[in-house]
Order: sequence, then C-alpha cells, then structure tokens
Amino acid sequence: MASREIDTLTQALARLPGLGPRSARRAVLHLLKRRETALEPLLRALEAVAERLTPCSTCGNVDTSDPCAVCADPRRDARALCVVEEVADLWALDRARLFPGRFHVLGGRLSALDGVGPEDLSIDALIRRVADGGVDEVVLAMNATLEGQTTAHYLAERLEGHPVRVTQLAHGLPVGGELDYLDEGTLAQALRARRPVA
Ligand code: ZN
Repeated sequence: MASREIDTLTQALARLPGLGPRSARRAVLHLLKRRETALEPLLRALEAVAERLTPCSTCGNVDTSDPCAVCADPRRDARALCVVEEVADLWALDRARLFPGRFHVLGGRLSALDGVGPEDLSIDALIRRVADGGVDEVVLAMNATLEGQTTAHYLAERLEGHPVRVTQLAHGLPVGGELDYLDEGTLAQALRARRPVA
C-alpha cells in the first residue's frame, strides 16, 4: 500500500511508452530507495527540460534551444536535408550520427483516412527552406508505409523544378516499418543505398 502521492507518480510513469504498471512500480521503488542518487537528479533533469522545452523554428525538432542542437551544429552539412515524418524519426537517424546533414520534421504524414492534408504538415516551410538555396540534396526518409510513400511522392512533385537532387531511402526497409524501430545497421544501409525518386 502506498500513499496517494506515490500512487500518482506510479500511474504517471505507467503511462509512459514502454512502461506498464509493473515496470512503473519497480521504477518508483528504485527512486524512493535512492532519493539522492536517482530521485533528485531525475527531478532536476525533468524541471530543466520542462522549463526550456521549445520546438525548433527551423526544422521542427524539439529541444531546449531554438535553433535546436542539430540545426546549430556547424559541423553538419547544410547542403543535405533529410525529411522525416516525426521527431522520433529524426532522433532515430541521428543516433550514432547516421545522417551528417540537417533535418526537416513534417509533423506527420498525408492521410486521407485521418483527414491530414498538405496544409496540416510542415511542407510549405520545407519548400521555403529549399527555395532559399544552399541545399543540394533532399532525402525523403518517410516510413515504409502506404501513407509514408504517398507523402514522399507528393513531396517529390512539390520539389520538382527546384535545383535539388531528391532521393529516398532504399527499399529493403521492412514494409510497414517505422524508422524508430529499426536497428542502426538497417537504417545506415537504407541511407547508404538511397536512390533518386523515380
Ligand atoms: Zn532544428
């Protein structure tokens, strides 16, 4: 039996992706037993992120600074732009620095079923970034789902007439595969073997 405060904490943790009631209880117990080495550092980290959390006005990433750490990194190749559906995809591709360029997060994918049209996604902002110049290649890194591929086709059409090479991740991605769930080897291979959009 636990107090209401501890129950509230357990329930909040249990709602996190990848956790459930059992893992949440174990995590809470761990935090309670290690107040100074686990609970308080976690609390400070949560507060720091919550205070400063902001979407990047350039690429749509979420970070504690705007521009985000990816956009602000001068070592990245600004001429290569990788377009992804969600922030989770950016983070997946950014693990181990798989993509050396910059990113653009659409905020979803086109879906007639869910009523998501081009105006609901960060597509105009993408076209503006490309039209502003300095970009040689746009890599369309949509998920290997029907909606992801529909989105990639639409973007390729919108980018026609701009002086950029438009490529997409190689097939070999599992159909229905979401980038976030792929291991680094598979992602790296799909990036290396990227090909022009037909
Ligand atoms: Zn950014």
